[in-house]
Amino acid sequence: MAGIINRRDLEFQLFEVLDTESLTARPRYAEHSKETFLAVLDTAEAMATEKFAPHNHKADANEPTFDGRSVSMIPEVKEALKAFSEAGFIAAAHDFERGGMQLPVVMTQAAFSLFKSANVGTAAYPFLTIGNANVIHRFGSEAQKEKYLAPLLAGRFFGTMALTEPQAGSSLSDITTTATPNADGTYSLRGNKIFISGGDHELSENIVHLVLAKIPGGPPGVKGISLFIVPKFRVNDDGTLGQRNDVNLAGLIHKMGYRGTTSTMLSFGEQNQCVGELVGEAHRGLSYMFHMMNEARIGVGMGAVMLGYRGYLASLDYARERPQGRAPNNKNPAEPQVKIIEHADVRRMLLAQKAYVEGGYGLCLYCARLVDEQRVGAGDTAKMEASLLLDLLTPIAKSWPSQWCLEANSLAIQIHGGYGYTREYPVEQFYRDNRLNPIHEGTHGIQALDLLGRKAVMNGGAAMKLFVREAQQTIAEALRDATLAGYAAELDAALGDVAATLQALGPVLATNPTLALANAVLFLEAFGHTVIAWIWLRQALAAQRGVADGIAADADFYRGKLAACRWFYRWELPKTRQWHELLRSLDDTTLNMKPESF
Ligand SMILES: Cc1cc2nc3c(=O)[nH]c(=O)nc-3n(C[C@H](O)[C@H](O)[C@H](O)COP(=O)(O)OP(=O)(O)OC[C@H]3O[C@@H](n4cnc5c(N)ncnc54)[C@H](O)[C@@H]3O)c2cc1C
Repeated sequence: MAGIINRRDLEFQLFEVLDTESLTARPRYAEHSKETFLAVLDTAEAMATEKFAPHNHKADANEPTFDGRSVSMIPEVKEALKAFSEAGFIAAAHDFERGGMQLPVVMTQAAFSLFKSANVGTAAYPFLTIGNANVIHRFGSEAQKEKYLAPLLAGRFFGTMALTEPQAGSSLSDITTTATPNADGTYSLRGNKIFISGGDHELSENIVHLVLAKIPGGPPGVKGISLFIVPKFRVNDDGTLGQRNDVNLAGLIHKMGYRGTTSTMLSFGEQNQCVGELVGEAHRGLSYMFHMMNEARIGVGMGAVMLGYRGYLASLDYARERPQGRAPNNKNPAEPQVKIIEHADVRRMLLAQKAYVEGGYGLCLYCARLVDEQRVGAGDTAKMEASLLLDLLTPIAKSWPSQWCLEANSLAIQIHGGYGYTREYPVEQFYRDNRLNPIHEGTHGIQALDLLGRKAVMNGGAAMKLFVREAQQTIAEALRDATLAGYAAELDAALGDVAATLQALGPVLATNPTLALANAVLFLEAFGHTVIAWIWLRQALAAQRGVADGIAADADFYRGKLAACRWFYRWELPKTRQWHELLRSLDDTTLNMKPESF
């Protein structure tokens, strides 16, 4: 069976492209070294392979059930999560004093990517818990940290994020869940949430829901949204569990993929007994939740990458084993059949997958590295620049892998032929699991509006200028290498196209945003391809350095990197030209198509 990762690639990305080892010079990470980083990856890879991967298919085929009282699921999920918590992975990025490993975010994301590759359905529980704990750590009161953070980091409590309601998905300003103040400072919640991942189960002692709700009398829209901690079991001041809170599972949702993760409809306060605690200040809930969601979005992109990666590795193995047909210049049936990897079209599908998944991996790890720079960068300017770049690149890190690594999964099925369409092979599950990613954590369309309507133009285009500055440094370096100079020129031209499109759309955004944003998805895709082209040029430069260092055992690996870069520049980047033309023409075909004409 194909493995869960190409470790050579992961270490190349971390140490040869991103120079992760240099983070050990920062005081926060001074106790770490490349050796401790590698040891974390070893532990994660072994645990993901032994405890998570073996039940990936079983959890998909035996989804959780609800008998009206409690949720049941296969026991392997709980065992895997117990091992994950005991190894300290939930607290991995937190301070030593809190029982954490004080690891850089890029290293935690790298380690967690292995669990996502092994089994996204099981991995979802701790990743929701980690995001939840991060919000309480950042915005909770000392008393809340005492009560909730420690058990979350220890894996005794699990967490959720409860935003979505039946009538309010993309449009959170329309949520109707209410939180009415009580005399003792707590709030009584009332309302219904839908699609809440990990919203009920028996995997942990308690579940801590982070719930968006409105305090009656507050401002309308998103400015009136507050954030509440709502535990499944109330927690006494001494940390012991109290009575059951009035949060009830109204039912489980049956999904296309991610079947190991419970998806729940939750009702809050049916008996008027649902007690919650306000997090931070009233009416600032959405900004707190976005804090969680920005890292969660890099995590979503990473999940999409890893599902693509698993499919790529599985189809690569298959293509090396499966004999079928002969070369076009050999029609002799007496000759043995060739392995399908010999066919150019199969190699096309493998190269495309490699370019998508290794490009997406590079972007998500780069964004995780930016989170580290944002936190422990050398000086205020470095931190501020990392924040700006992250703001701009987060919609790409979330959306690009969700689109293109899903396409990789489709190609992995194609390489398997008819077998790929059966449940006997794992690739169909990877596709179904990955199909979620363009939908949750802000749909593809919503990410596009955020990118073009806000991130690309905010502060006079400050973030975009910064990105161009970074990309121009890579271009300057690549121009000095005859093998890469052509790509450098093409990336420069693609950046010019992005700038020209923004210049054309900028004034229209101010006067007629409906028209300017009508084709926002095309901008998301064109800019996304440009960002990935930049990521690939960085990888190609690192590969050239590797070739120059001349380790013979790595020659094929580096050649593969250079071939995938070439493929992306020849097959994918040129598509952006036509997308930009359409954008700059302010094409209004979609706007003009009246609903009644469909
Ligand atoms: C498996 C799964 C797990 C989930 N987990 C969670 C969770 O843990 N917590 C949680 O709170 N939520 C969760 N969600 C909910 C998820 O975030 C929402 O489904 C998502 O935000 C979209 O909302 P919706 O389903 O109501 O679709 P809608 O918002 O109704 O969107 C439908 C379509 O209309 C488009 N659209 C909507 N508004 C606009 C607009 N203004 N402009 C252009 N196009 C628009 C969308 O892009 C989409 O294509 C989960 C969903 C799923 C399927």
